[in-house]
Parts: sequence; C-alpha cells; structure tokens
Amino acid sequence: MRHFPVFLDLRNRHVIVCGGGETAIAKLRLLLKTEAQVVVFSQHPADRIRSWEDAGLLKVISRDVCQEDIAAATMVYAASDDPDHDARTAQLAREAGVLFNVVDNLEASEFITPAIVDRDPVTIAIGTEGTAPVLARKLKAEIEENLPGELGILARIGERFRSKASTLPHGSRRRRFWTRFFFVEGPLALRRKGVAGASEVLEQLFVETGEERPEAGRVFLMGAGPGDPDLLTVKARRILADADVVIHDRLVSVQVLELARREAVIVETGKMGFGDAWKQEDINILMIEHASTGAKVVRLKSGDPVVFGRLDEEMDALDASDIAWEIVPGITAASAAAASLGVSLTKRNRNSALQVITGHDVEGFAEHDWRTLAKEGSVAAIYMGLRTAQFLSARLLMHGAAPDTPVSIVENASRPDQKIIASTLAELSVAARDSEGPAILLLGVEPREAAGHARQIVESNTLKVGAL
Ligand code: SAH
Repeated sequence: MRHFPVFLDLRNRHVIVCGGGETAIAKLRLLLKTEAQVVVFSQHPADRIRSWEDAGLLKVISRDVCQEDIAAATMVYAASDDPDHDARTAQLAREAGVLFNVVDNLEASEFITPAIVDRDPVTIAIGTEGTAPVLARKLKAEIEENLPGELGILARIGERFRSKASTLPHGSRRRRFWTRFFFVEGPLALRRKGVAGASEVLEQLFVETGEERPEAGRVFLMGAGPGDPDLLTVKARRILADADVVIHDRLVSVQVLELARREAVIVETGKMGFGDAWKQEDINILMIEHASTGAKVVRLKSGDPVVFGRLDEEMDALDASDIAWEIVPGITAASAAAASLGVSLTKRNRNSALQVITGHDVEGFAEHDWRTLAKEGSVAAIYMGLRTAQFLSARLLMHGAAPDTPVSIVENASRPDQKIIASTLAELSVAARDSEGPAILLLGVEPREAAGHARQIVESNTLKVGAL
C-alpha cells in the first residue's frame, strides 16, 4: 500500500485550488462538501466558480498563487489543466511543505483523492493507487446502490445515542442493537415517521436489548478452506464476520482473516509441520477462557477441521468445560488440489476407495497399509508428506508399487502462488525438494494436462506448472 487512506479534519482549514476550469470545478464539488475554507486562484474562473463565490461558499483570488498563500494552506490542488502551471504550483507547495495534488497525475502528487461515497457522516473512500479508475468507479456505483440513502441521517441520530448505548453489554448484543437500528428498524421508521420516529425506535431497541438474556459463549470449530477466500463456505463467512475472537492456525490465509471483524481479537497459534509452536493444551485453555466470558470464539483451521485438525482433543476439552461448540466444515486441501490438477480422486475402473493419510504423526514417520497403497490404481491424498517424501516412496516401492506411478505435488492449492509439480514415485524424493509447502501429495494421479488432455479453465489462479 503506497497511499495510506486517512480522513483529514478540514474544519476552518485553508484549501487552495489553483485553476478555474472544469478540472477545478470537479474538485471544488467535493471540497465544498467539507467545512474547509476554500480559496481558488484563477485569473479567469468559470461562471460556476463565480456563482459559488457569490453564494459565499469560497473565495476567488484573480492572480497566480504565491509562496505565502500556500504556506497558510493545509493542502493544495494544482488543477489548471496547464502542466507547466501545475508543476509550478506543485513546486511551491513542496517547498512550503504543504501536501499537494496535481489532478490526474499520480506521480507528480503527494496525495491522491479517492472515489467517495458520501452518506455524511458515513464516508467511504475507494482507492486503486491510480491503477484502475474504472474499478473505483464501478465499486463506487455498487456501494452507492447498496447503502441505504438514509444511512447518514441514521448515523447522526445514532451519534447522540452513543454514550447511552455504551451501557449495553459489549459484544454481539450491542452489535445487534446497532445493526437493527441502521439496517432494519431504523430506515423503516425514518421513512414512515421521520427523525422523531427513528429516535423513538432507537430508544425501544435499547430497552429491548437491555432485557435480552446474555448469550453464552460458544466455539465454532471452523474450516477456513485451502486459502482462496472464495472457497470459504457462506456459513463460515457469516460466523467469521461476527466473531469476537479468532484463534487460527498458521496455514489460514491472510485473505480469509481479512473477513474477520476489525475489532475481533485475533490469535495465531502458529503450529509448524514438525513440532508445535503452541501446545494443544494452551490452545484449549485459550478457547475456554474466551468462551467463558460469553465471547463468540472461532477456532479457525485450514481446510476442513475434521481432516488432520486434532479436533477430538478440542471437542473433549470444550465438553469438559461445558462449553457449547459446533463444527463448520470446510474444503479440505485434497479437494482443492484435485480441482487444480483437473482430476477426480475416485474413478470407475481405477479406484473405488480413496485413502486420506498423513506423512507423519506424533511418533514421526507414519506407517500405513503400504501393500494396499502400492497396488496399481490406488489413490491417496497425503497430507504433511513433503518432508517424508523419501520415506513414503521407499516404503511404496518396497511393497511393489511401480516406479512410474504418478505422484502430483500441489503447493499452496487454490492460492495465487499455487505450484504444481508432476512427479513419479521414483523421482518423488527429488521432486519434493522443489516445494517449500504447504503441499499435498496426490498419489496415483497426474495433472489432466500431463495426461494429454486440454487444460481446464482455472479461475482466479494462474496455474504454474513446474517440472512437467
Ligand atoms: N485440515 C487441513 C489439513 C491440516 S494438516 C485440511 O483439511 O486441508 C496441514 C497440511 O495440510 C499441510 O502440511 C499440507 O499437507 C496440507 N495443506 C493445507 N493447506 C494446503 C494448501 N493450501 N495447499 C496444499 N496443501 C495444503
């Protein structure tokens, strides 16, 4: 993020606009919404600007801006449509240490103006760092459409009620109170009975919320999917957006965590492949402590929590403390990896069973029914198998598997940095060195493309095919 969005208090501040044509008018339209003292420097200001001056909304000075003018300003717009003139204005501002913007010239500007959705006092600023104005306009149009027009008025009414509302219990009850006011009962009352009606509803909701029984804390043992936030379930998304506490594993992607509430307490329990950074008991204690205070806790695990998620230990601990929990399943890494390869994990006349195994367990390298796995046509999804690749291939070859049995390694399945390595059992230990993980090994399947088929369309991911 090169440009950091902030909201500047312009009350009684001087803002200078240099220019008197259409470009200046476009910026003035925005600036006149603020409480700034706007001064336009232009020898020939357009009639519109003159009429704003006549209405007392701004001041026009009919000469070029000079150093002293700029020194008294909070920010400056160079909006003359004349590059040389704008460059001179920018130079003066730079020398005076005053923030400046050269309209439509990102590189020459110290700050840029976002696209704005105005529901004063609710203001949404949209920026694309100048890369895609079309995108900003489209987003603005979509937000304009989706935000109730009354939101600004409701926010003003709500503002007066804030200190009273702060006596409501913190957390989901208070959030529900405000959500109902802003999005359900509030807009309705405002439309029917105006500001007085909306204020009345606010009072009613306050009483109702105060009488609600406090909610007991709960824990959602939830799957975050393989990383692509679009692969999160709708249910998980909804719960995440309302959680008070999110306790997540290292593999949960940043993009998924972005969907949590900004005020939520977010704790990373940083488990690494071998050896735990956090002890399971400590995670259990953390969940229980938070849930005991009435918090809505999300225990967020990569993929599906029911696959290699140490779920039983957590359910047992929660049961022992009498804390209610619910499992919210997710898309497991094997499913995402198969989708990326364009393969099915079961296939008529090839395999009617699928083994889901781990490369290592608490004791170290995990032992399995190697004889079954070594059979022709058998398919297995091997989690945490990267570092045990050599052991796996040795065991399988020893039990009679064909050296050319395909093994596909999918690293970062579903993420933008996804990498696919098509390999065979004989080459596996060498191929595995090309991956840093997290990766899943799919034994018995090769990428559809490698098998001579056309590549499927992969949305939102650039498929990098390594070592094919
Ligand atoms: N519950 C998870 C698995 C946790 S075990 C699930 O259902 O997917 C952690 C292992 O999952 C990693 O070592 C790796 O083998 C696999 N894994 C998790 N996310 C992955 C991803 N995005 N791409 C490839 N493998 C992944």
